[in-house]
Amino acid sequence: MIQINKEALVERFMRYVQIDTQSDPESNSFPTTEKQKDLSKILAAELQTMGLLNVELDEFGYVYATIAGNSEKLNIPSVCFCSHVDTAPDCSGKNVKPILHKNYDGTDITLPDDASQILSVVKSPYLKTQIGGDIITASGNTLLGGDDKAGVSIIMQAAQYLMDNSTIKHGDIKIVFTPDEEVGKGVAKIDMQKVDAQFGYTLDGGEAGSLEDESFSADGATITINGVIAHPGYAKNKLKNAIKIAGEILDALPKRLHKRRFAQPPQQAKKNCRSCGCKIWGCNNGVYANRAVQKYERNFKPASRGCGKCR
Ligand SMILES: [Zn+2]
Repeated sequence: MIQINKEALVERFMRYVQIDTQSDPESNSFPTTEKQKDLSKILAAELQTMGLLNVELDEFGYVYATIAGNSEKLNIPSVCFCSHVDTAPDCSGKNVKPILHKNYDGTDITLPDDASQILSVVKSPYLKTQIGGDIITASGNTLLGGDDKAGVSIIMQAAQYLMDNSTIKHGDIKIVFTPDEEVGKGVAKIDMQKVDAQFGYTLDGGEAGSLEDESFSADGATITINGVIAHPGYAKNKLKNAIKIAGEILDALPKRLHKRRFAQPPQQAKKNCRSCGCKIWGCNNGVYANRAVQKYERNFKPASRGCGKCR
């Protein structure tokens, strides 16, 4: 049975999460933040030290590498393992202080830097499955970045294991680390010629032991609604309230499909998204829905200043 070095894996993870690699949905550069390469450079250097082939960090922040096949068998398909280095833009990824909670006792965990941040067993019953195990959390003021530095760490540790244990026979194994997954651009500049694998697994999941074999596509759009301000005394037939127009647009969206979609697992979401054809709301389990509303809010600001002609 394969025994991955748990201490080395934990050390690796705790080291990677302390590197700020937050991506930026408002950026038009690629990668959206240069700091993502701070981790990618380390990964490329470590893969090189391990002895992998074709290790490359490209200008866009993608890391490619190959564990050369060592089997005598012919026609073994090559397999790719992939994960993303960036962390979500929703909460700071700077000065992350990971905390290792050893031998978890099954009670709520209060994060020390912000006592209002409590990992509750009631809200997260999965915690109960980890009693007796070790849990790593953030300290309260930042993301942990387990998404997806857990995947990055696992792939790196597995690569180290395979390089150290040549008795395990395999075909070519490709490794890819991408930037900008959290902002929907994870594969925007990927070079599939360099990946060159027949099968691929993304290590970016949830509960241990779970496997998802289907995903979905989503798209997004920003709608700018320009209202018209008018003095109330002279507003008749002039005032156009951007918020009310936005409300009409939202109300016109196919409610039945969207309601169902957000409550359902990804497989069903995929089917619904295709059938409704709506591109205002993404279907990323509600994530894009929130962003769409944020966009609306932002775009009210110019509208509220009015067109300038009606003052
Ligand atoms: Zn992820």
